[in-house]
Amino acid sequence: QEVPVIAVDGPSGSGKGTLCKLIARSLGWHLLDSGALYRLTALAARHHGVSLDDTEALEVLAAHLDVKFLAGEQDEELQIVLEGEEVTLAIRTEEVGADASVVAALGPVREALLSRQRDFVHAPGLVADGRDMGTVVFPEAPLKIYLDASAEERARRRYNQLISKGLGASLEAILDDIRARDDRDMNRAVAPLKPAPDAIILDSTKMTIDEVLLAVLDEARHRG
Ligand code: C5P
Repeated sequence: QEVPVIAVDGPSGSGKGTLCKLIARSLGWHLLDSGALYRLTALAARHHGVSLDDTEALEVLAAHLDVKFLAGEQDEELQIVLEGEEVTLAIRTEEVGADASVVAALGPVREALLSRQRDFVHAPGLVADGRDMGTVVFPEAPLKIYLDASAEERARRRYNQLISKGLGASLEAILDDIRARDDRDMNRAVAPLKPAPDAIILDSTKMTIDEVLLAVLDEARHRG
């Protein structure tokens, strides 16, 4: 019996992260936050003084990432521990996100993280959050979602998210960063961000996350 995967792709700030947590919780399935692996690789590079031009060293870092995802109590966020250090919040800064998208453009780094991502597949099912879940990592997934939203709306959301976490932020800088990151993610040579041919495209600019969740759960039910 094949373990089912729901592949969710889309640009940063589209609400994918929140959506995937809600789907996983509703279905009692496991969750893969693939962006965290690119962020962790970028953070490890900082810690080890590895330059973002050094593809070989970055590939080695990605292949040997010493990371643990620890379940918190009840509904709390997973705690992420990199080389023995808690980095749950440290990987969420805009700087690490920007570095992650540079690192993520490198084919060898993506290759190195491929099997690690597929290792997250466990019964009863996996909700996979990323940029290439439906196109590259889980092309056989029976349900693929592409969640979009306008750049302005995504910048506003990211701003509010950072402020509510007590992190400093500038709306204008975030919008610039989102546009730059979209450009890098959509126009890179390897695994560019794009909907899989059989993906269902949803636009969260005009939908609440609960409406999106209901639409996805409805599709999941139909595919049984
Ligand atoms: O989703 P998140 O913002 O945490 O991802 C950080 C960066 O990692 C993205 O901007 C993207 O460049 C990269 N990424 C990717 N493929 C994935 C997930 C994230 O290239 N599956």
